Amino acid sequence: MSDATSKMKREPEPRGIRCPRCGCGHFEVVYTRRIPGGAIRRRRECRHCGRRVTTTERMGA
Ligand SMILES: [Zn+2]
Repeated sequence: MSDATSKMKREPEPRGIRCPRCGCGHFEVVYTRRIPGGAIRRRRECRHCGRRVTTTERMGA
């Protein structure tokens, strides 16, 4: 497995997440939690409709 994302490692947040309800990409992080195993779970809330989406991000080893 090659790491294709090594170029752009600036952004810790995943790109391209869209609100499943209104389709916008503007989220506000309301909750951040570290998961054992080296991941971070973030709960985001859509600024437009208030829909909450949970994302899990891997941290660099
Ligand atoms: Zn929305």
